[in-house]
Amino acid sequence: MLLNKLNIYSVLDLTTHFPYRYDLIKRSDLKSCNEEDKVIIDGKVDSIPILIRLKNNLNKMNFRLTTSDGNIVGVSIFNRAFLKKSLEVGTSITVFGKFEKQKNIIVASEIRVGLLPKGERIEPVYHGTVGLNSKTLSSLINNALMDYGNDLEDYIPKYLIEKYNFLNKKTALNIVHNPPSYDKLKEARIRLKYEELFCFMTKINYLKLKNKTRENGIAKTINYEALDKLISTLPFKLTEDQDKVLTEILDDLSSSNRMNRLLQGDVGSGKTIIAILAMYACVLSGYTTALMAPTEILANQHYNNIKNLLKGTNIKIELLTGSITKAKKDEIYKRLENGEIDIIIGTHALIQEGVTYKNLGLVVTDEQHRFGVLQRTCLQNKGVTPDILYMSATPIPRTYALTIYGDMDISTIKTLPSGRKKIDTFLKSTSEIKDVLKMMYEELLNNHQIYVIAPLIEENENSDLTTVNELKDKMELAFQGKFNIDIIHGKLRQVEKDKIMEKFVNNETQILISTTVIEVGVDVPNTTMIVIFDANRFGLSTLHQLRGRVGRSNLKSKCVLISDSDTKRLDVMTKTNDGFEISEEDFKLRGHGDLFGVKQSGDMTFKIADIKEDYKILLQTKKDSLEFLTNSDESLKKLKNEIISTIQEG
Ligand code: ADP
Ligand code: MG
Repeated sequence: MLLNKLNIYSVLDLTTHFPYRYDLIKRSDLKSCNEEDKVIIDGKVDSIPILIRLKNNLNKMNFRLTTSDGNIVGVSIFNRAFLKKSLEVGTSITVFGKFEKQKNIIVASEIRVGLLPKGERIEPVYHGTVGLNSKTLSSLINNALMDYGNDLEDYIPKYLIEKYNFLNKKTALNIVHNPPSYDKLKEARIRLKYEELFCFMTKINYLKLKNKTRENGIAKTINYEALDKLISTLPFKLTEDQDKVLTEILDDLSSSNRMNRLLQGDVGSGKTIIAILAMYACVLSGYTTALMAPTEILANQHYNNIKNLLKGTNIKIELLTGSITKAKKDEIYKRLENGEIDIIIGTHALIQEGVTYKNLGLVVTDEQHRFGVLQRTCLQNKGVTPDILYMSATPIPRTYALTIYGDMDISTIKTLPSGRKKIDTFLKSTSEIKDVLKMMYEELLNNHQIYVIAPLIEENENSDLTTVNELKDKMELAFQGKFNIDIIHGKLRQVEKDKIMEKFVNNETQILISTTVIEVGVDVPNTTMIVIFDANRFGLSTLHQLRGRVGRSNLKSKCVLISDSDTKRLDVMTKTNDGFEISEEDFKLRGHGDLFGVKQSGDMTFKIADIKEDYKILLQTKKDSLEFLTNSDESLKKLKNEIISTIQEG
């Protein structure tokens, strides 16, 4: 069935197949029009249309039109040969198009045979499919509304309809599909957006409440004294924001409600130490904690960090990644099962089947945006009811945070540790490579290190993208063996990667050429420059993450983007270091689906609401839906259940 192609399976689907735009149908007066004005003109065909075949199967038709106010104008239209037989001389038509005043012709985009009703009209335009055009859809929708409009369920409870003086649902739908005026249209649209967002937020809030009350969490006893002692050994003072989020997390840990919290903070804002402190607190109160990272490099780095930080204690720390030996894995599994490990750090290996935990009290997921929704829930189900802390450096615009992470509490680190300097970012073309090498040379002479990023590992005959291998040759040549250069990428074995990273951390290597495996989390503060080849191949958020590998100390750092195309988009990077702004821009350019790894559930797509535009309505529905859910009025029960029943657990 053709409607199914448009994802329409029910009357509700059909009546909520909303127009994607509206055209104002208003007759033009050619005399007062300017060159190239868009026009809508009534008239009669005045000459037999002449069909001209162009190349590539294209065609063009020309004829003369006597307009209803008595003027004569030429009309041409492309690729409508099929209209020729209906355009007999004398036929009344309406022509939509662009007026080329000089030549006195209308280049038509559409011709409708038979005059349209007079006067101003707002016409809905629908996305159709082959064999089902906008006009047919319009009449199908109107028929459905006429026959079934009164049966459609209204998901806004009565008391809210009264409170906001909303139109009833059928009326609103009628208006949206046949708007009498822009004012009415606006009123109807707001009502429908509210309904859609109200349902959405009711579900989110329901999950949130369920999380709070369900399977009560474990109330941990926090040993503040021991924590303070550890904090005092740090080489820096926690920032105000770090203090604040740590308090929020510790409060959650000590509460008997289960924690479900997102720790958000731009690249380099110092989230790791907060996670470590939370984990430490948890261990002190007698529980196992797990930290999951998206890459082995990152898991390793965390492992080394934590080991180093807690070396004065007898806390048992282990690393579990895909590449450790089977024997070692089995040993770790066993110890996890017996609750003999305090802190376990790893990659996806942590949630593989067969891994069971005893006494799991806290699960931390680093770089949350790299994991899919499924993985997120998977680890949640591992323990009894561990507290959950997600960390993400992808600053999510508030609107999106509310929807995607709507069932979580959010802690945000807004300011970077003091002393950080802005990372100067330059956009260079491939012909300016000499300048770039010179900049690199200066950094190297100052005993600083450099990352060089390329999109590919090996040559590929289908692509002329830069490869890490080719860059190594180039750099060797340019720096004539004065500095040590290494390559790292995802295809290397873990032991090799470890060795390479270790050498780089110890400044035995000065230039590390890499694919985006170092995109997330890697922290080597002496690296003050990053050069990214074929920068146009990467999304802005990825570039921001990559750039975040430098500027991680008080040393002035640089980022060079090399690209011959897409410079307008890349220019955003040279203008701001603010991940928030960049992600907004990325959302605008690429949509949100991209940023969160695995496609988020279909819940994120709205039919009429736009979470960016309708943020105010979203906030209102957030409040209203919470009140609705906690309202004990029996008569609301049925509606509540109906909305909640559409939640797809996953
Ligand atoms: P991210 O939030 O991107 O994960 P990290 O936790 O890796 O950032 O921290 C970035 C760097 O800043 C690390 O080298 C870390 O040791 C350092 N750092 C963290 N907190 C502070 C602070 N309060 N003052 C100075 N440096 C800090
Ligand atoms: Mg990090």
